[in-house]
Amino acid sequence: MAILKVARLGHPVLRMKAQPVPMDQLRTPAVQRLIDDMIDTMHEYDGAGLAGNQVHELAQIAVIEVEANPRYPDAISIPLTVVINPAVIALTDEMEEGWEGCLSVPDMRGMVPRYTAVRLEYHDREGNRQEVDAKDFFARVIQHETDHLNGIVYVDRMRDLRTLSHIAEWNKHWLGIREQND
Ligand SMILES: [Zn+2]
Repeated sequence: MAILKVARLGHPVLRMKAQPVPMDQLRTPAVQRLIDDMIDTMHEYDGAGLAGNQVHELAQIAVIEVEANPRYPDAISIPLTVVINPAVIALTDEMEEGWEGCLSVPDMRGMVPRYTAVRLEYHDREGNRQEVDAKDFFARVIQHETDHLNGIVYVDRMRDLRTLSHIAEWNKHWLGIREQND
């Protein structure tokens, strides 16, 4: 168990595509330890999720969990989900703007459009195929983390960079404002 170093915006690894984890390597101690370390790292920094790229590992592994998270006080809780080799399918054309932060873009928030419902297909850490239909905040977190595995950071998805805010200013001026227009 270890807290891993998190790459920040500007590190090229965040702009690279992660590769699928070969199923015959998934259950090796090295991969299982990486998963455990990613969970520890997500907990240490109060993240809602963490993707392989963010810890300098170009492997299609993401961990997601939301439970009484001080960074997302209004968020629903999401059980610990270990996502290997994910595919995401939008279940609607509807998109919604919402605030996001990222451990790789520390102390910042920005308003990001996301599909409101997605299907996530993935393997769990034992290699079993899983499928979950998610909406709203869970769907947002899934899109954020799977974007990381494709080399995409949330700021790339923002339609208007004027909402990009330092957390201290965000707490003063934006907290509670979910949508600017429409
Ligand atoms: Zn992120």
